[in-house]
Amino acid sequence: MTPSRLSLELVPVGAVPPVLLRDTARRMEGILFRPVSVGEAILDAAPALDLVRRQYLASRLLSMLEDPAPPPGVKRIGVTNLDLFLPVFTHLYGYAQLGGTVGVVSTFRLKTEEETSVDLFPERVAKEVLHELGHTLGLVHCKAPWCAMHPSRWPEEIDLKDLAYCPSCAHVLALFR
Ligand SMILES: [Zn+2]
Ligand SMILES: [Zn+2]
Repeated sequence: MTPSRLSLELVPVGAVPPVLLRDTARRMEGILFRPVSVGEAILDAAPALDLVRRQYLASRLLSMLEDPAPPPGVKRIGVTNLDLFLPVFTHLYGYAQLGGTVGVVSTFRLKTEEETSVDLFPERVAKEVLHELGHTLGLVHCKAPWCAMHPSRWPEEIDLKDLAYCPSCAHVLALFR
């Protein structure tokens, strides 16, 4: 049996601008050197809505992204404009199964007022997709502040990261080649 290469699929969770998904897919293709597919069907996030917090439960979204499970070798990352939470966190930019198959990224808190001529927003989304993809590949948080696997609390911290893994995290990219 020949080991098969991994591939990435992006899935809209709730209404997400198609242009953002295409842009993110293009940026990820530049890193993975693999075609990145964008799911046509929008995943309805309603079952994950917490009526008291008016946020969406990230762990529930992961279960929904896994049903049905992605084809073998496919990592599936949901992208949403909705605000995510976990009981232990007020909000989060993303969440993923460590060494699993699915993750989700929220763009809800990635837009900031001081956007300059450089369009930071789509770059931030791609960095967070790369971060959550890294978790599905078994990567934990990295100490290097420029590494995509470094945790971020503010959008400005995401801007300090490269859209890349540091050399000690980048070994996972071999799985796509
Ligand atoms: Zn993380
Ligand atoms: Zn790293």
